[in-house]
Amino acid sequence: MGTSGFFGNADTQLRRPICYNSGIVKFDLHIHSCLSPCANLEMAPSEIVRKAVSSGMDGIALTDHQSARNTPAIAECARRAGIKCLFGMEVQTAEEVHTLALFDTVEQALEMTEWVYAAMPKRVNDPETFGDQPIVTWDDDIVEMEWRILAMGCRRTIPETATKVHELGGLYIAAHVDRANHSVIGTLGMIPEPMVESEQQPDGGRFFDAVELSRTADESMWLPKIGDYAVTRSSDAHNIEDVARVWTEAEGEFSVAGLKAIFAAKATRISPRLTSF
Ligand SMILES: [Zn+2]
Ligand SMILES: [Zn+2]
Repeated sequence: MGTSGFFGNADTQLRRPICYNSGIVKFDLHIHSCLSPCANLEMAPSEIVRKAVSSGMDGIALTDHQSARNTPAIAECARRAGIKCLFGMEVQTAEEVHTLALFDTVEQALEMTEWVYAAMPKRVNDPETFGDQPIVTWDDDIVEMEWRILAMGCRRTIPETATKVHELGGLYIAAHVDRANHSVIGTLGMIPEPMVESEQQPDGGRFFDAVELSRTADESMWLPKIGDYAVTRSSDAHNIEDVARVWTEAEGEFSVAGLKAIFAAKATRISPRLTSF
């Protein structure tokens, strides 16, 4: 079922030449670098960009757990390679739910990081247990090891996090809603929406601008459960071969404003799910 979707066979699609004049942008919005303790250490920003370009992506987003400290490196890699990049993080909220915060600039993403760090336990990472958390340069030198444990949630709730993301001018996406753990549907049983005045978003909209299906999610089963939200599919890559294995495409501009318009129009198309690993 999943492989008979809009694009036909995923392997064929990956070999198709990129058509730069079509106005269609193809993107993977959920990628972890080596800074995420659970990601492979080969996930240098330079390697992520190389794989995304060779896979025909027009845009990517870097979304490490609770931190955007490798976004300066990937910004430079993306600039050199001529691929568009959004800068963000995967915020694990107080509800233990994973959510993506995406921004146009490194500065916005780093301000978001400070806000999340301020609501995290000051616990030192144990690399033996959780994995290393290197912050690197665009050309793969290690600058420092993030001392703070990133494999933990923060005290910010979904309404608080959504408000902060939108105040900073970003996009907020409910991550891998099909997963039983760490997802809005799996954990809360629904996609939460503003209920009281204090939860109203700066733009008057909902907490989430879109929802994400994971790479193996069967859209015929999940689309009815996400109502009228725009759907995305991204790789959630923790190793190089998974970068851009699945993707989303739409006609428009790859930027926060461009994606906001695409999401509002529910004009996304998602790649087929993976049925084998
Ligand atoms: Zn996640
Ligand atoms: Zn993730």
